[in-house]
Amino acid sequence: NKIILLDKRPVGKVSLNDFKFLQSEIPQPKEGEILLKTLYVSVDPYLRGRMNDSKSYVPPFQLNEPIQSGIVAKVVKTNNAAFKEGDIVSGSLKWQEYQVSAGTGLNKIESDGNSLTAYLGILGMTGLTAYCGLLEIGKPKAGETLVISGAAGAVGSVVGQIGKLLGCRVVGIAGTDEKVEMLKSEFHFDAAINYKTTPDLKKAIQDACPDGVDIYFDNVGAEISDAVLVNINKFARIPVCGAISLYNGDTSSNGLRISSVLVTKSALMQGFIVSNYADKFPAAIKQLTAWVKEGKLISSETIEEGFDHIPQAFIDLFDGKNKGKMIVDCTN
Ligand code: NDP
Repeated sequence: NKIILLDKRPVGKVSLNDFKFLQSEIPQPKEGEILLKTLYVSVDPYLRGRMNDSKSYVPPFQLNEPIQSGIVAKVVKTNNAAFKEGDIVSGSLKWQEYQVSAGTGLNKIESDGNSLTAYLGILGMTGLTAYCGLLEIGKPKAGETLVISGAAGAVGSVVGQIGKLLGCRVVGIAGTDEKVEMLKSEFHFDAAINYKTTPDLKKAIQDACPDGVDIYFDNVGAEISDAVLVNINKFARIPVCGAISLYNGDTSSNGLRISSVLVTKSALMQGFIVSNYADKFPAAIKQLTAWVKEGKLISSETIEEGFDHIPQAFIDLFDGKNKGKMIVDCTN
């Protein structure tokens, strides 16, 4: 039974040396407990913040303790009447091949024809973040222009598709030509920009948004946000979902230097954590599931193979190696 622990608190960019692998016996469930086998592991940018020893909305990981993230697992033994052998569950679980749980906080998955990985992505935290952040703060109206940073990632690619379904002009910003192409051809974005090769991002956004920017869904922060914000319209809304460009502690480019534009444009910029909208989740999941079923919403995923690859898959998020949701398949 392999376990992945946090060995060192990363300084700057995370490296494989910050993790440690351990072998242990497969634990046995006590009365009221279940034994879970890990099937699919979600790696997420916010885990970087939990590797620092600092207070946030979730407590930091402890050194020499397993990392934890969204996981889909199978019940392989049960001493808890609420679960039967073979049940599939999702929840915040440890990076272990096998683990025991009392079952609290786990959701049973009735797959209903969806792939199990969807519950870590489009029908899980990713989809909920996109849906709630866009609808509750972005408040999109048909005909408005929506710009998304981190557009080809897990959350960004869903935000853009929902924006199109609601009748917006959608413009994405991403880090490779391949991603730019994917946004336009697969997700039908109206325009997409490669921030790594575009010399004048402000101008490129201006050109792609002839009517200005009404909603800016920000996953990235710093210079990319500066370039979008000079292009916002009066009464623009800016859901601040994340700031991945700053998670490794690079404060050299610590935006926003452009906040006066919020005043001149009477714009609303609001950070959020998806759990703020827990009361909206049932309706959101119903809508997301319907869109997926109708083929209106495409789930984009990058699947890495094997439990041993979890740390590398996490590190790869910061090098933009994923398209859509990054997931590690531990079924073999
Ligand atoms: P993604 O699938 O978007 O993966 C991360 C992507 O970010 C990479 O593929 C990369 O794409 C881009 N990226 C990495 N480093 C940089 C950089 N320095 N500058 C610009 N882009 C960069 O991850 P998620 O969809 O899971 O998360 C997206 C954002 O949403 C994150 O900031 C995350 O923390 C946040 N989030 C917030 C939640 C909330 O409740 N508020 C919940 C879930 C996520 P590229 O090739 O384009 O550079």
